[in-house]
Amino acid sequence: MRSLKLLLFLTPIFLLAFSSSAQEYDFFYFVQQWPRSFCNTNQGCCYPTYGKPPSDFGIHGLWPNYNNSSYPTYCDPNNTFDINEVQGLVFSLRAKWPSLKCPRSDSSRFWQLQWMKHGTCSVLSQSDYFSAALQLKAVTNILQCLQLAGIWPDDRRYTTLTSVVSAIQNCVGHTIYVQCNRDIRGRHQLYQVYICVNQTGTGLIDCPVFPTRTCPSSFRFPKF
Ligand code: 5GP
Repeated sequence: MRSLKLLLFLTPIFLLAFSSSAQEYDFFYFVQQWPRSFCNTNQGCCYPTYGKPPSDFGIHGLWPNYNNSSYPTYCDPNNTFDINEVQGLVFSLRAKWPSLKCPRSDSSRFWQLQWMKHGTCSVLSQSDYFSAALQLKAVTNILQCLQLAGIWPDDRRYTTLTSVVSAIQNCVGHTIYVQCNRDIRGRHQLYQVYICVNQTGTGLIDCPVFPTRTCPSSFRFPKF
């Protein structure tokens, strides 16, 4: 009887502990940004201290998400970013996950922010989180997907939403989401591509849910 009472007392505490751990997210968004479209807006950009990033999509983040479109953030303030944990990955992170924010930096603040805001809500350790993102980048060559479909960054021509979405979906084998922003002259342009990934960060999946606003039916894909 005493142990039953104890169980009844402890169960809500357990449920509370698990519901606030936020590690029961449903999937990840793996988000990549087109550098030119981050730069040619009102906010402008600064290249990293180690040089201009490659003309390729760069990683923005790997974000735990719920099927109802909401998402957890800053799940464990004690699990602080430690650059030593990713020492072996820094060379690749600099190339594949550059920060374009001003003032110019070595990008580590961007990785730190992404880890604290999103990574701490995942089931992954810090080194597994950054390795998973780099691995996902290696298997999702969006620029190549677009180029194979005849879509190249071009300052004059507009491209269509249907051609961009189907080029990437046919190539990665799953549904994806594209996001546009506006350049300094107010013109719509391809900004980010969202690919969905299972909870462990190991495999691509069809997106269970899409953010609400996508691109207009035609937009620019500017040169970088
Ligand atoms: P989010 O909140 O979307 O996960 O991350 C965006 C934050 O990262 C913003 O505070 C932004 O200023 C910072 N940040 C640093 N470098 C970059 C970058 O290259 N691209 C984007 N989109 N955000 C960056």
